[in-house]
Amino acid sequence: MARSAAGPVRRREVVILDLDGTLTDEHGNVERAFTAAGEVAHKHAGIDAGRFAEAARATAQQAWWDEAWIDPLSDAFGLSAWDGLSEDFTGTVPALDQLRSWLPDLRRHVWSLALQEFGISNARLTAAVGDTYIRHRHEDVRLLPGAAELVEQLGRDRRLVILSNGPADGQRRKLAVSGLQDLVLDAVISTEVGFAKPDPRAVALAVHRAGGNTDVAIVIGDTYDRDVLGALACHVPAIWICGQEGQTRPANSSVTAVDSTGEVLGALQALEESPG
Ligand SMILES: [Mg+2]
Repeated sequence: MARSAAGPVRRREVVILDLDGTLTDEHGNVERAFTAAGEVAHKHAGIDAGRFAEAARATAQQAWWDEAWIDPLSDAFGLSAWDGLSEDFTGTVPALDQLRSWLPDLRRHVWSLALQEFGISNARLTAAVGDTYIRHRHEDVRLLPGAAELVEQLGRDRRLVILSNGPADGQRRKLAVSGLQDLVLDAVISTEVGFAKPDPRAVALAVHRAGGNTDVAIVIGDTYDRDVLGALACHVPAIWICGQEGQTRPANSSVTAVDSTGEVLGALQALEESPG
């Protein structure tokens, strides 16, 4: 068995993987969906696409945060106004019933108010810009460089489970479209199970679904406050894909920081081989 300063490093048979920003590339996809909606508004009403996209973003944020009950839900499950415009939250826990039933009103309100800012009142166009946003959010699923190779390599001789905060339908769609679904044993999604990272139940459940125990698990993720703290709460080490953020957290012998998804496999092998 390899050793490190933190103690014995066992082979990590169970790998718990975050999804957004760890395997899938979320960069710019919300902007692209709003821009696509703006292009529809431009085509049918002559509105400047960029200005419409900007107005719709601001309207969506305002409508979302104006509801006092949204704040604790967003925080508890890892949700955003952008999700509210594109996901139906099917298959989620009863705590999200109020959100689910509010979504049609939210969308109508956001898109019609954004159009009204340009003097347009048109139910068909309201529906068309909303549908365009949804279509782009649903189709715009891209893997980060090295993500497919990482999951394929790890999946050869380890048990992989995805652990994600977010809307169940949206996250499961990404897993299916990206092909990741076939490469992992299971996925644990906050809105399906009723709790989210960094709640220690999240990593514990993912490890359980993998059929392993926390002694042989590792968490891989890009958000310190969710992924890393969620792992540490279960006494599981983490590989943190930190990008530019690496200097901003205290050193911890259970946390290995890397710059990108492409560096994770090498970091894991080095961790397991480390003589300490
Ligand atoms: Mg993430």
